[in-house]
Order: sequence, then C-alpha cells, then structure tokens
Amino acid sequence: MRFGLNKCATVSVKRGKLERVESILLTDGQALANLGAEQRYKYLGVQQTYEIRQRENKEEVEKELIKRVRTILNTQLTAKNKITALNIWAIPAFTYTAGILTWSRTDLERLDRKIRTTLTQFGLLHPNSAIERLYIPRRDAGRGLISLEDGYLKEEEKLKTYFVNKNLPVHQWVAAQRYSTATPGLNNEQEPERENMVEKWKDNWRTKPLHGRFYSSLHQIDVDLPSTNIYLTQGYLYPQTEGTLMAIQDQVVPTRVYARHIMKIDTETTKCRLCNNAEESVQHLSSGCSSIAGTKYLSRHNNMGKVVHQLLCLKERLLQGFTPHHLYEPKSVLENDNVKVYWVLTVCTDPGVESNRPDMVVWEKRKKSATIIDFSVPLDQNLSKAYGEKITKYEALSRQMKSTYQLNNVKVKSLIISCNGLVHRKTVKHLLEMDLPHNTIAWMQKAVILGTVNIIRQVLFPH
Ligand SMILES: [Zn+2]
Repeated sequence: MRFGLNKCATVSVKRGKLERVESILLTDGQALANLGAEQRYKYLGVQQTYEIRQRENKEEVEKELIKRVRTILNTQLTAKNKITALNIWAIPAFTYTAGILTWSRTDLERLDRKIRTTLTQFGLLHPNSAIERLYIPRRDAGRGLISLEDGYLKEEEKLKTYFVNKNLPVHQWVAAQRYSTATPGLNNEQEPERENMVEKWKDNWRTKPLHGRFYSSLHQIDVDLPSTNIYLTQGYLYPQTEGTLMAIQDQVVPTRVYARHIMKIDTETTKCRLCNNAEESVQHLSSGCSSIAGTKYLSRHNNMGKVVHQLLCLKERLLQGFTPHHLYEPKSVLENDNVKVYWVLTVCTDPGVESNRPDMVVWEKRKKSATIIDFSVPLDQNLSKAYGEKITKYEALSRQMKSTYQLNNVKVKSLIISCNGLVHRKTVKHLLEMDLPHNTIAWMQKAVILGTVNIIRQVLFPH
C-alpha cells in the first residue's frame, strides 16, 4: 500500500480539544504530518479540522460567491445568459454549503441584497425596480435569478429527504441526530413549497401600488402572455437594456412626475421637458408626447412594420435575400405575377375615403383579394382599444377597395404591440394566418422595446 502523503494528515483530540503532537513516522521514513490547532484540511470543498469552523468557512464562501458574481457581470454575456451563469456557477458555490454551514435568514437576506446591489452597480437592476421580478421565472415576466434564500432552503430540504429516505444505519443515525422530528416521505411535499415561493413573489408584485400597474397591464384579457414574454425567455437584450426596460415597465425612471410625487423632490414643474404641455410621466414619454410623435414614435412604429414587410416579401419571393432588420428599407411597391405589396402608399378608390394610407397593403392577384395591414404601438393600457380603432379606421377603405377593384374579399389586420412590449393576442393570430416565420413576433417586439428604451434614455439621460 502506498500513502498519498501530501493528501494525508492527522489530528489529535484529547478530551474534546485539539492537540499538537509529533508527526507519525512511517516505516519507510516518511512522515504523516499533524494538523495542529491552526491548520485545516479541505474535505469536499469545506475547510475542517476536528470540527467545522463556521465563521471562517462562511467568510470564505461569501467571498467566493461575490467574486463569482462580479466575474460573471464583467463578461459580455446577454441578459438571460448572465442570469443563467449566476444560477449555475455563482449561486451553487453558496447553496453547496446548505446543511453543513449554518446560515440564518438574516444572513441569507443580507447576501441576496448584496447580490442585488452588485447587479445595480453593473446597471442590470434599477434600485427602485420590483425586486420580486428578479426572482420570478422568465416565462412569468421575471428574470429568473435563484435567490439564495430559496436555493439554500431547497438544498437543505434535498439533503434531509436523502437521509430520511435511506435505510442504511449510518443514514438513519444522521437523520435521527439531525432531523429527529422529520417524517419519511417528505420529498413529495418539496415541490409545492418551491412553487409557493414563486407565487408569493407574484403576489407581492401584483399588490404593490406602483410596480403592480405593469402586472395588471400584463394580465389584460387581450395580452398573449407567451409572446409578450419572448424578450425575457429568449433573453437576447443587453443586461443593461433589460434593466432599463424593466425600470420603464415598473415606472421608476426619473421623469418629472416621478421626481415630485415618488422621490418627493421639489421640482419646478412636472410638465414635459419636450412639449411643455402634458405632465411628464413615463407613459407620456413612452407614447404620448406630441414633440416626438412624428420622429421617434414613427421610427419605432416603422421598425416594427419593416420586420413584417421584409419577412412577408421574402416569403412571396419579392426579395432576393435577407437584410438585417435595422438596415432594411422597404420599397413603396414590390410586385410579381402573384402578389403586389404596398408600403405606406395611398390607395385610390372611387369614391375616395379619408383613411386611405395604411402601413401595408398586400394584393393577391390570383385570389382576387387584398389585406390591409396596419401597425400600432399604443400604451399598455390602450392595447384593446387600439385594436378596435384600427379596424374601424380602415372599414371604409376595405369596403371601397372591394367594389373599386372587384375583389372577392378585403381583410384588415391590425398588428399591435404596446410600447412596453405587450403583444395583442390578435397579433399572434394574424401572423399565423399570414404564414410568417415563427420568430416574426420576436423581431417585431425587439424593434418596439428597443425603440422605447432608446426614447426614454435619450430624453431622461441625454449625454
Ligand atoms: Zn411631451
């Protein structure tokens, strides 16, 4: 037998106290060192001697955790990938110690807060944003970070289940020592407890007076939730952009209204710095300011439309190849034997109608039919209203087109994504009817939310 001496050490304990004794000499002359009172050895990643020194170990774990968090935040990863990296590389360095080191609830809360302030330092989290959303899964409009509190409790629970359900005497002994009140079969109750944590966060978010407003908007009857949360589930945004968008949704960006009413700063006026007409709320800047209606709002609206235009024209073989969306400029008319596509072009009818310039018209020559397509980026709370308005707006045009050009039918499709990215369920339906690629909605939404973030950044943080 050969000893791996560099991995061996002895401890000597007399009456519960560590003692320094001589190294043990082996027959071949090598020595087995004694750890003494000061040195420690690492077993499964935890420093220990006769006992596990809680304080030292906890300090080290905390240092390692924050080091890993900062390392990840310094990378160029996208929003979702950064959170994933935190969840699989930083948080486990901490939750690994569950059941070995003792962390109080206060410890866990303090460390969760420390991670949040680090996220804020790196621009990922606005300090006044809804904390709950950070820990809610991405498919439910959160950001999907594992909280230490939740992760630690879950890990402890797993450990307990393991020991309680094993039948070997050693497991039973540990279970009896540590979990004497535990009953077998706990593992079945584990899942619901975790679920409840998410439900608790959702509930907190829902009932908060300011943050809760976006929660309500999100749960309007016309909102298609899976499509609306695409920017989160795909997670392609820059982490800082995702942070800003959430701050806008949570209505905590420093508009003049926010400054006076929430931050209680004695501002001279709460009127909009651009139009000097309406109150400067985040809603006003996102979608209601007359000063930027013809410029910034229009280009946001057009960027969303261009996505549909290009993908539709590619499908109809009116275009040779794909152009990156931000570089794409639609032609006013594109035409082949089957189809003709208008981009913001007046449609002449006899008699003429008032609203005769929809964003797009698709003429299907063989079928003798046409589709009027119009885009809209309303405020979150006007999502349903905007749909009805657009349909009414082009009712006359569709009727006159049908008679003037002797068409079998003319449909109106109103495609709506609100300025904070809420997708109208009819938008999803219409895109399906038009047989456009699966990711069309994601590209449209990206155009809208980047538009909104840029507008708010340019107005509130001009550099
Ligand atoms: Zn204004």
